[in-house]
Amino acid sequence: MKVLVVGGNFAGSTAALEIKRKLGKEVEVTLIDRNPDFIYIPSLIWVPIGRREVDEISIPREKVLARKGVKFVLDTATKVDTETQIVFTEHGQYRYDHLIIATGPKVQMDAVPGLKEHNVYIGTPVGAMKTREKLEEFKENPGPIVIGATQGAGCMGGAYEFLFNLEKWLRDQKIRKKVDLHWITPEPYLGHFGIDGMPLGEAMLKKFMEMFHITYHTSVGVEKVTGEEVFLSDGTVIESRFKMLMPPFTGVDFIKNSPQLHCGDNQFIPTLPSYQHEKLENVWAAGLAVNVAPPFEQGEVPFSVPKTGYPSDVTGKIVAHNIINAIKGIEKREEKAWGKIAGLCVMDAGEKEVIIVSNSLFKPRKFAIMVPNVIFDFFKVFLEKYFLWKLKRGISYLP
Ligand SMILES: Cc1cc2nc3c(=O)[nH]c(=O)nc-3n(C[C@H](O)[C@H](O)[C@H](O)COP(=O)(O)OP(=O)(O)OC[C@H]3O[C@@H](n4cnc5c(N)ncnc54)[C@H](O)[C@@H]3O)c2cc1C
Repeated sequence: MKVLVVGGNFAGSTAALEIKRKLGKEVEVTLIDRNPDFIYIPSLIWVPIGRREVDEISIPREKVLARKGVKFVLDTATKVDTETQIVFTEHGQYRYDHLIIATGPKVQMDAVPGLKEHNVYIGTPVGAMKTREKLEEFKENPGPIVIGATQGAGCMGGAYEFLFNLEKWLRDQKIRKKVDLHWITPEPYLGHFGIDGMPLGEAMLKKFMEMFHITYHTSVGVEKVTGEEVFLSDGTVIESRFKMLMPPFTGVDFIKNSPQLHCGDNQFIPTLPSYQHEKLENVWAAGLAVNVAPPFEQGEVPFSVPKTGYPSDVTGKIVAHNIINAIKGIEKREEKAWGKIAGLCVMDAGEKEVIIVSNSLFKPRKFAIMVPNVIFDFFKVFLEKYFLWKLKRGISYLP
């Protein structure tokens, strides 16, 4: 029995390791990823400001996976033929009995005119290092800054984190007084986060904006970005010498090139609550590659839902469990719609943090709480150390 996993960061590695751990020699598990290293993406917000180096939050995949009996292939998957059950890569072909797609996002840098040329993006190691370079240049000639998210974006949390970390960095560099700092977002109110907010979230973020003298603009899209300006959908033009706007995400080209897999424009994978493909019995998706419809009415400026690390890990485990059942001939499937997975996230605010916990990501919720910690970002650092510890040892059964 061959299980093939495409994409092996949060969701894919969890699924691959769990299946191998539970089925041992009964199954051959192969993981294809275009990147040799696991990257702990949540800490990339610290790379531009020099608080982390990329190698401190990367772990080479091959050794960890080999130790656990998972075969690693360093390659880019280009398409799949679901009839013959073959995945094509740039350098080969791989047959599967069950396929797991955990390829994360493609970042739409062309979503807004001028974004590609004038914006930095912190969500990849290369992007984070480029942002560091830009900030070093900026230091010599400071001016206005715009941070935020464009229409269609879903990863607002990472942008909020970068905003507050950057604000602290500006103070540390002793240039804060020379910088007008703006936050722009398609959210109708601060702290909506694509999950219709959390109790006290809006009030807390308003307080932060006031405390740190940040001007904010909600319910706005971006029409155009130039070297010196950001043009908003409400007609406002903000001067800016540096910008980090979170673009929208879609599924990757591997999915786009395999039309039987996806459900239209966004190229994410349509799944049942068991994370089995809606139409293909032996194709599964986990993590950011899963299509999740926003549970709220879209206003004038559309935006999307956050697909964060914890639900990515949970969906990886659900897929593993369900594939194991399928292989063993057990009919029962574990089901948990994305919005019903518990919310567990830490929003870093520059050596401060807000801990976000809820019984389900989307409303209705039985409980939801945001706890600020203004002394130090202890939990964010703890989660990073814990995750890297888990990854280095190839431990997949822990939360
Ligand atoms: C700046 C930023 C900050 C964030 N902060 C947080 C946070 O604080 N907390 C939190 O919970 N979440 C955070 N997130 C979200 C978190 O990073 C994602 O939820 C998580 O990475 C999703 O995991 P995944 O495994 O689904 O996808 P990814 O982590 O994106 O992994 C996808 C993998 O697929 C591989 N791949 C893609 N296409 C191919 C292909 N064709 N062939 C082979 N391999 C391929 C990639 O190389 C990659 O290894 C943040 C995201 C960003 C961008």
